[in-house]
Amino acid sequence: MSSDCLFCRIIAGELPAAQIYADDSVVAIRDVAPQAPTHILLLSRKHIASVPEIDAADRELIGKIFAVGAELATREGIAADGYRLVVNVGRNGGQTVDHLHVHMLGGRPMAWPPG
Ligand code: AMP
Repeated sequence: MSSDCLFCRIIAGELPAAQIYADDSVVAIRDVAPQAPTHILLLSRKHIASVPEIDAADRELIGKIFAVGAELATREGIAADGYRLVVNVGRNGGQTVDHLHVHMLGGRPMAWPPG
């Protein structure tokens, strides 16, 4: 855990969030500023700042994040119509929280290309 990391503090229960899933490696919360009717953040419990910091030991964790996303999409009722998974990386990628997370957006059609 990184004590100055927003998502680490949410995972630790130090800050409130609408948590909808948790296991030993993945936590899912609702985004506080939703960009779609369903906007969930899939967080690694382990503090990994961003994609470039993923190492070989994290490969199972990365697969788990996507598997949990698929499970939650079904539970949230967005799986049949489809949804979007997004990882913002670095400043040009739009990353604002330096803790690995995958956005899951659904409940409306998504435009392409993204802004
Ligand atoms: P990113 O910009 O890709 O790093 O995504 C960070 C996301 O975290 C944004 O969509 C924010 O709306 C969301 N966010 C920031 N603070 C909170 C919070 N306290 N609880 C839930 N989501 C948050």
